[in-house]
Amino acid sequence: MKTPHASFDSDNPTGYISKKCPECMEYMSLKVDVCPSCKLPVGKINKNGMASRKTDWKAYSTAIAAWIFFFLYIWWAFIREP
Ligand SMILES: [Zn+2]
Repeated sequence: MKTPHASFDSDNPTGYISKKCPECMEYMSLKVDVCPSCKLPVGKINKNGMASRKTDWKAYSTAIAAWIFFFLYIWWAFIREP
């Protein structure tokens, strides 16, 4: 049931007008997904008025791939040893 005064949208059930960066504690617009102050990728606002941290899967998988490649290289180098 909707009331005439309920202007909260689904992205912002908390009623905050700005969110706070979890890294540098700077306030920013709810719409931005990168902190303008410290460039931290941020997600939606949580119930405490803080922006949630975004998991950077791309950086994660790149790092994991680099480690796998590194270990494969070590293994390959040892196998090739006379
Ligand atoms: Zn920040």
